[in-house]
Amino acid sequence: MKDIAQVVEDTSFELLKVAATKLPSEVKETLVKGKNETKGSLGKAQMSAIVENVELAETNIKPMCQDTGLVAFFVKIGDKFPLRSEVKEILKKATERATKNVPLRPNAVDMFEGNTKTNIGLRGYVPWFYFDLVEGDKLEIIAMPKGGGSSNVGKMKMIPPGKGIKGVKEFVVEALAAAGPLACPPYTVGVGVGGGEDMCMNLAKKALLRPLYHYHEDERIAAIEKELLQTLNQLEIGAMGLGEGPSVLDVHMEFAARHPASLPVGVVISCWALRHAGATIDKDGNVEYHPH
Ligand code: SF4
Repeated sequence: MKDIAQVVEDTSFELLKVAATKLPSEVKETLVKGKNETKGSLGKAQMSAIVENVELAETNIKPMCQDTGLVAFFVKIGDKFPLRSEVKEILKKATERATKNVPLRPNAVDMFEGNTKTNIGLRGYVPWFYFDLVEGDKLEIIAMPKGGGSSNVGKMKMIPPGKGIKGVKEFVVEALAAAGPLACPPYTVGVGVGGGEDMCMNLAKKALLRPLYHYHEDERIAAIEKELLQTLNQLEIGAMGLGEGPSVLDVHMEFAARHPASLPVGVVISCWALRHAGATIDKDGNVEYHPH
């Protein structure tokens, strides 16, 4: 019989390694396509460098960027999966192990004690966990490390509800114009609309996990995603902000109900290094890695 706790730790370690060293195939393919379609020599050189960097990281199993991000896990625990409250500590153990052995850059800084050197925060919040309780006997884990540069350009605003969808679109364009070259474009943009001031940012981050060019099942939302993708590329930020090549690879939106008096909008931007990796473990410890 398998040691389920060990399987969860080993799988999470592997997910952190894969996320840091290998881009999801559709992201890589989109970057290659962007490189091939870029006309100007400056943009072409930047896109070529990004693609070469991604390929070298994958071949040598080394992080694709020196900033391996702040670690977050999206976790779905089935009500018949044998582990529950222990999962959090196991994922922290995997994070500490990955920090030493991948290696990941130590990025958890305590305001008073400094860098913990482990990627584990001293106060229990880092890594950050998004837990969901679901039916069934499986555990799904998605590891998502996110770099500081791209997190710095995230934005949230409570816009007047009367501004409606037009106001949402204007704010997304405003956020991307402000990001400009600051966070290693081409970007992928997650937008969360509704809920409260915290929920819209969580939804925006979650939206980044949807594979590129998989638009929202609600056609009205899909139409806004496609429209924003076009509009944002007209900003001509370009590869690494040089005005040539793709600015934005894709836009994904999630909507929640809102309070009648509020229209919260969260914008979470990923740099070209849109890193995440997932797996599902069943109650017997069999692991299925998600297509990557
Ligand atoms: S923004 Fe992304 S690619 Fe740029 S340094 Fe940060 S993690 Fe690396």
